[in-house]
Amino acid sequence: DPHAAKFVYDFTEGNKDLKDLLGGKGANLAEMTNLGLPVPPGFTITTEACKVYLDSGEEPAALRDEVSAHLDALEQKMGKKLGQPENPLLVSVRSGAKFSMPGMMDTVLNIGLSDKSVKGLAEQAGDDRFAWDSYRRLIQMFGKTVLGVDGDLFEEALEKAKHAKKVTVDTDLEAADLKKLVATFKKIVKAEAGRDFPQDPREQMDLAIKAVFDSWNGDRAKLYRRQERIPHDLGTAVNVCSMVFGNLGPDSGTGVAFTRDPASGHQGVYGDYLQNAQGEDVVAGIRNTVPLAELEQIDKKSYDQLMQIMKTLENHYKDLCDIEFTIERGQLWMLQTRVGKRTAGAAFRIATQLVDQGLIDETEALQRVTGAQLAQLMFPRFDEHAKAAQVGRGIAASPGAAVGKAVFDSYTAVKWSRSGEKVILVRRETNPDDLDGMIAAEGILTSRGGKTSHAAVVARGMGKTCVCGAEELEVDTKRRRMTVPGGHVVEEGDLISIDGSSGKVYLGEVPVVPSPVVEYFEGRMHPGADDADELVEAVHRMMAFADRKRRLRVRANADNAEDALRARRFGAQGIGLCRTEHMFLGDRRELVERLILADTEEEREESLKALLPLQKKDFVELFEAMDGLPVTVRLLDPPLHEFLPDITELSVRVALAESRQEPHENDLRLLQAVHRLHEQNPMLGLRGVRLGLVIPGLFTMQVRAIAEAAAERKAAKGDPRAEIMIPLVGTVQELEIVREEADQVIADVQAATGTALRLAIGTMIELPRAALTAGQIAEAAEFFSFGTNDLTQTVWGFSRDDVEASFFTAYLEKGIFGVSPFETIDRDGVGSLVKSAAEAGRRTRPDLKLGVCGEHGGDPESVHFFHEVGLDYVSCSPFRIPVARLEAGRAAT
Ligand code: PEP
Ligand code: MG
Repeated sequence: DPHAAKFVYDFTEGNKDLKDLLGGKGANLAEMTNLGLPVPPGFTITTEACKVYLDSGEEPAALRDEVSAHLDALEQKMGKKLGQPENPLLVSVRSGAKFSMPGMMDTVLNIGLSDKSVKGLAEQAGDDRFAWDSYRRLIQMFGKTVLGVDGDLFEEALEKAKHAKKVTVDTDLEAADLKKLVATFKKIVKAEAGRDFPQDPREQMDLAIKAVFDSWNGDRAKLYRRQERIPHDLGTAVNVCSMVFGNLGPDSGTGVAFTRDPASGHQGVYGDYLQNAQGEDVVAGIRNTVPLAELEQIDKKSYDQLMQIMKTLENHYKDLCDIEFTIERGQLWMLQTRVGKRTAGAAFRIATQLVDQGLIDETEALQRVTGAQLAQLMFPRFDEHAKAAQVGRGIAASPGAAVGKAVFDSYTAVKWSRSGEKVILVRRETNPDDLDGMIAAEGILTSRGGKTSHAAVVARGMGKTCVCGAEELEVDTKRRRMTVPGGHVVEEGDLISIDGSSGKVYLGEVPVVPSPVVEYFEGRMHPGADDADELVEAVHRMMAFADRKRRLRVRANADNAEDALRARRFGAQGIGLCRTEHMFLGDRRELVERLILADTEEEREESLKALLPLQKKDFVELFEAMDGLPVTVRLLDPPLHEFLPDITELSVRVALAESRQEPHENDLRLLQAVHRLHEQNPMLGLRGVRLGLVIPGLFTMQVRAIAEAAAERKAAKGDPRAEIMIPLVGTVQELEIVREEADQVIADVQAATGTALRLAIGTMIELPRAALTAGQIAEAAEFFSFGTNDLTQTVWGFSRDDVEASFFTAYLEKGIFGVSPFETIDRDGVGSLVKSAAEAGRRTRPDLKLGVCGEHGGDPESVHFFHEVGLDYVSCSPFRIPVARLEAGRAAT
């Protein structure tokens, strides 16, 4: 029954938890009212009323009567009636959605003024000028936002009036001038809107409420919601609030304040104040504001009261609040408050400060920061004290600070970087052909495209600094130069600096400073030491909170001792994935090539024999770096052709040799082999466990290297904890065969060395069939590690190497997904397979150890999912470990 619905709430009836219904502004006005703070009385029309209006084109039937009842009550409280000629009550009608949409929707002030009541207001205020100025503001705002009149027409008339009087600022216009202006404004309304400016105050109010509803679907608002991913069906609330005036003379004014510094978190007096002005004047920048601290000299009583209120609000909201206030003739009024936005650094500091003040506990503190904020704090940044010539600003697409010589094509980027130059690749936009150049560059700058453009998506994937869509820059790739605003030309080879966290572009080299947070994790800076700043101290403490809370363990993806040691410093509790193919690059590639191309048993044996000691040495180093912690070594995974020469290059070489009649038997033999092994879909071809089953001796050589390395570490009184992982298993039979061989090798090594070895053997779950038959696979596996990169690839049928650069931009724009499934786990699809496979595996083997080692292991949202489905650990790249630790802690609260 729609009549039973309640569409209007007095400020005394709401509270801060009703943001869905009352919007952020309305809910917080109600909260402050109920705290006994001085809020001008008023009421809020709910988002539900807005939704009915937007759906049906009609306001709900009950709304008019409800508004009347609340208006009556308001008039009684204020002792005056809306628009009453002698002593008018004036109201503001303001939008206020659940999520702040600054300036995107409409507001009308001074509702209730008319040809009659303007005189009453003048008398009450004892100020003609003020009253006529308020009236002309009403007609201007109402005309523009409610009646749809072109705002420039009012501005032009205002300019004309000033010109006629030979003055430059609005405040130099006197009452008589403003009175004339009101007449002009009314004429404009009549001519443009085809109706008179309404003199009936209630009609003014009703039309303004409707206009605010309508502004939810204005172009600006819709665009903003798309960008910020705010749902389109929330609707806005409307706040009707009795007017207070900051423009009634020098004992009046308006200001904004923060309960603490939103940049540093420090407690103190932060804000701005503007004497004799209304909020709109502050925004318009008509006069300069003064620091809030000066209010103490201007109006000590209001200042003291404001400080008291700020304390009350912080204690109540237990967080940084921002505030808008007005002083009307020495009386302080609160017009708005909300939990304030803050920088990433301030978020950490404020959270620990609030713990110290006893306002929140550790669990709550963890909810006040995010892994994304921590990641932001870990990028190097430009020295903020350095002089820098900013020449443009684009979209902050991928964070970091990059300096280099401007180059305008990928070929040059690669060439110059090979000769040791640092370069920034500058393009109008990038496409897949630019990949080499992007890899070679320190950073990427484009003049076109948004956050989901090719440059942005690929750069983020590579963790490379990127600014895109810097439209003021004119990039001329043909002439290898770009023109910046003001006409300066940046030629190829000129130094530029780009800030992927702010989107700013600078000429020349801006000095870069390492992140103090990374310095801390690296152990080069210590909390509590003299040089440790407050940020490091705060991060240190938050990490401790997270470590105490979390159930998930965090391991690293690392293939060498250097990465392993860094991972350890960053808090890794082991290695979750050592990709052994990374050990076969460089000089060793030739050995692998020989192994693959071996024609005879002997040749193959020889290559394996040569590889064994190299592999063993790798593992000894790794186990030493990770002494006492588990190290999961994955046997060789990628497609064979990755170890063979490029097919085109080789074909050219053979053809050339042939035409010159030079000897080329070896190359020809190689080419034939490469042809034989060439695959159309290498990701679905001969890789993973299939390799191990097809090339005799390969996996057993690797297992022997692991076992011998472990024995050697034991002999050296070390504590190696190796685990052997088989990749790309689709059926338990594959695993059983490899297992049997591996067990035999391990037994041999034990016998030969006289050392007892405990080497767990497990598998990756990275194919749908493996996930679907996890119960069987667990018979032969002591642990599972979900390879969510391949699992995402195979579940969606998305080539992980191609799609992000080809059609993901279109998919993101169409909203098919909000973020790439290679970045954040697809809960419904891939995620549900992970969940059921984990359950099935545990049913077979209750002590089965479960982890994840795809890129998702370091993604904040995915970490929460892995916590929820009960995995034991996540494994991610060393730099992501602190983020994973923090998010694992947050997930457990
Ligand atoms: C995976 O597939 O998720 C994985 C970790 O293995 P790789 O990325 O090496 O294929
Ligand atoms: Mg994989």
